[in-house]
Amino acid sequence: MTLTQPSSMLLAPSGTVSVERLMTDLHSTLEVHQLLDTLHSYLKELLEVTGLKYECNRFGVRYLIGDLTGHTVEHVLSLNDLNLGAITYVRSNEPFTDQQLRNIEVLSNLFLLPLRNCLRYFEAVEASMTDPLTQINNRAAFDQILEKELSSANRYNLPLSLLLIDIDDFKKVNDQHGHAVGDMVLKSVAEALVEVSRQSDRVFRYGGEEFALIMGHTGQDGAMALGQRICDAVSNLSVLTSDKIPVTVTVSIGTSSKEKSPIETEQFFKKSDTALYKAKSGGKNQVLYCDT
Ligand code: GH3
Ligand code: MG
Ligand code: MG
Repeated sequence: MTLTQPSSMLLAPSGTVSVERLMTDLHSTLEVHQLLDTLHSYLKELLEVTGLKYECNRFGVRYLIGDLTGHTVEHVLSLNDLNLGAITYVRSNEPFTDQQLRNIEVLSNLFLLPLRNCLRYFEAVEASMTDPLTQINNRAAFDQILEKELSSANRYNLPLSLLLIDIDDFKKVNDQHGHAVGDMVLKSVAEALVEVSRQSDRVFRYGGEEFALIMGHTGQDGAMALGQRICDAVSNLSVLTSDKIPVTVTVSIGTSSKEKSPIETEQFFKKSDTALYKAKSGGKNQVLYCDT
């Protein structure tokens, strides 16, 4: 490929590509993975790049595509002092020529602005799905992910479990020790939930002192086992007040599973909620399953 100014055409082995078309395509999405797919397809056409790796720790984004073994060129990306991560171009057969290296530099620069826009969008979406106190997923994320996971479990006939977790007598914690201690308890319960569950499980703060956990590929036995582990882990937590008074809490959990038959989201949620209600009215600090 050669950059031919002022006609603003890029010469590819297969013909020419206009810079205008490239820029329009790069600016046509706000999804970072889609942007990298677009960049990759241009790189293949223009520079016979066989693989692409992009990583940005600041935004928690990692993208790998194509064959990543061979000759590599890495560019650290930044725009107006904003660190945008690093991109690695890979060519598996032959090394990049000097001309290709210069052109990669041109493309990396054209890519910066659309990349910055995508990362900012990604950050905004992440923030809108995160609970600021506990830093876990919030109710908006729960609604979206439950819908998605359940429709996939229904479609592929896979088991899925939902646990609804409510701190027992939490109002008393606030009343006796103040709201700040209540907040500390909420944070430590959220941490315990994340620690006890598997990485593939999804943990949410559903409401004030209510949490939810979605377990993919898991039926009644797995859900009950995790529920019990959560009850045990939370009852062993102890948050110290500024006067060094230990504050402990327990949780009640209601759970249900989508096993064989497909189920609607609302009905699925209602089953776990019914089990939670029974766990509360039956004495608290326990996990109950609803199978009807
Ligand atoms: P139960 O065992 O029946 O669930 O009783 P409970 O006291 O836990 O439930 P209730 O619904 O009566 O009270 C929930 C309390 O949670 C009341 C509310 O002030 C408190 N709460 C909700 N959100 C927060 C928060 O963000 N921080 C703190 N500290 N408290 C909160
Ligand atoms: Mg509650
Ligand atoms: Mg409660």
